[in-house]
Amino acid sequence: MRETTPSPKVQDLAAIGGVDAVREVPSDSATEPQAADLATVWQEVSSGIRRRIQPELFETWFRRAALVSLGENSVAIAVQNAFARDWLERYHRAVIEESVREALGDAFSVELRIDPELALPAREAEAPSREEADRATPAALVQQGPATGGASLGQVAGSLVHGSDVGLNAKYTFENFVVGPCNRFAHAASVGAAESPGAAYNPLFLHGNVGLGKTHLLQSLCFSLLDNWEGVRILYLSCETFINHFIGALENGNIEAFRNKYRNVDVLVVDDIHLLANKERTQEEFFHTFNTLYNAGKQNVLSSDSPPKDIPTLQERLVSRFKWGLVTELEMPCYETRVAILKRKSRQRGRELPDDVAGLLAERIDNNIRELEGAITKLFGYSDLSGQPVTADLARTALRDVFSARRGGPTIDNIVSVVTEEFGVKLSDLQSRRRTAAIAFPRQIAMYLARKITRHSLEEVGGHFGGRDHSTVLYAVTKITALIERDPETAELISGLLERLGERPL
Ligand code: ADP
Ligand code: MG
Repeated sequence: MRETTPSPKVQDLAAIGGVDAVREVPSDSATEPQAADLATVWQEVSSGIRRRIQPELFETWFRRAALVSLGENSVAIAVQNAFARDWLERYHRAVIEESVREALGDAFSVELRIDPELALPAREAEAPSREEADRATPAALVQQGPATGGASLGQVAGSLVHGSDVGLNAKYTFENFVVGPCNRFAHAASVGAAESPGAAYNPLFLHGNVGLGKTHLLQSLCFSLLDNWEGVRILYLSCETFINHFIGALENGNIEAFRNKYRNVDVLVVDDIHLLANKERTQEEFFHTFNTLYNAGKQNVLSSDSPPKDIPTLQERLVSRFKWGLVTELEMPCYETRVAILKRKSRQRGRELPDDVAGLLAERIDNNIRELEGAITKLFGYSDLSGQPVTADLARTALRDVFSARRGGPTIDNIVSVVTEEFGVKLSDLQSRRRTAAIAFPRQIAMYLARKITRHSLEEVGGHFGGRDHSTVLYAVTKITALIERDPETAELISGLLERLGERPL
């Protein structure tokens, strides 16, 4: 794969910078070259330093240093804190100066500065390779981020650019993603984009309801890139962060730095892009960010809770650009995939979920994978606390709330079919105006059940039964509730119906 993966090209970087340079940076601004130039020069200087000192020292002191200014006869190198700066002044100045002069010429002087906000440009490419065993999970390293524990970053092939607002979750990898008919396409597209970023699937636009794996796939893609592309610079963030950074940049008047940061990456991953709805200025800015990256052959990856055209007030030109590459939907996994996910998640926790319990959970929770996960957490917790083994019965007890609060449960149609069967009446009877007890009673029971186990309003329930108004439904619910209280036979009847609908009996 490494052969087919593009390596970061200096020309590309310059091209990105070039767009801004033409438009926004005054041409005589010799001390403010584009980040890409700085990164290139720094790569040369730092490889000189690396040759002159021991690898451990380099890792400790220079891994997070960066060239931040390049003048006619001077350079400034920034490190993360005063301690590091003083240390370098004291012990490594000579080496730094030698390396700078080797790269740029004898006349250059060196200034050491402090910059706690150091970005982490691509300079991992020449990092000395270490044994596999030495490679902690990329996530752990990424989470350390550039702000802490810099030494170990050398072990990561690539880097999340500083400003990625969240560390990646180590569990969100392609390996841990269960593929089924519902998500096969989105999964394949994410793998494809990770293998050939900037190529066929650009932009990659994943959409789907909450809890269906968008973030998981986005992060898997980041991990895969970090593993396979040395020096890749990924900016992964939520749309909210993009919005906040943009607003902050406007307020502080440093829009330049904002643009430099967002437009100098190989891969931009923005989660929950639907949050751009009603944010006109930010949409405008994102449009330019998107274009700059796209035109430079960089990869854009976006997720959203709805397809581009359904994001409220999204500018038409963004809608159309989002559709340039690949738009793909994540759907709710089917029953079999849900079972597989439950089994996988349990195993990840070092537990086995019995088949019938997995089946029960998959049957009952069918709208959101996060809820499925929550259910196993709760179930295992309950089992541990009570000292009882994980069985279907225990699941029913432990997950009572989950089961009854879930959406995806029985529908009014399910209720109608159970009730008509029980009483030997027809749907048209239930919907009719007839008030004989043989029809009215089943109708009231159906209304009661609809209110008890679906989320339909009184009015909606009335609508299903011949357009009756809410007071009729309320009357039915009150009457049946009272009957259940004083008449064991009715209670038994209702319990039986509830069980047939897959609900807990009374
Ligand atoms: P979204 O971003 O779409 O709201 P997430 O990516 O946060 O959803 O997914 C919610 C949870 O479900 C996560 O813990 C994720 O690991 C899990 N999940 C979703 N889809 C799958 C899948 N196909 N295989 C394994 N876990 C999944
Ligand atoms: Mg998400």
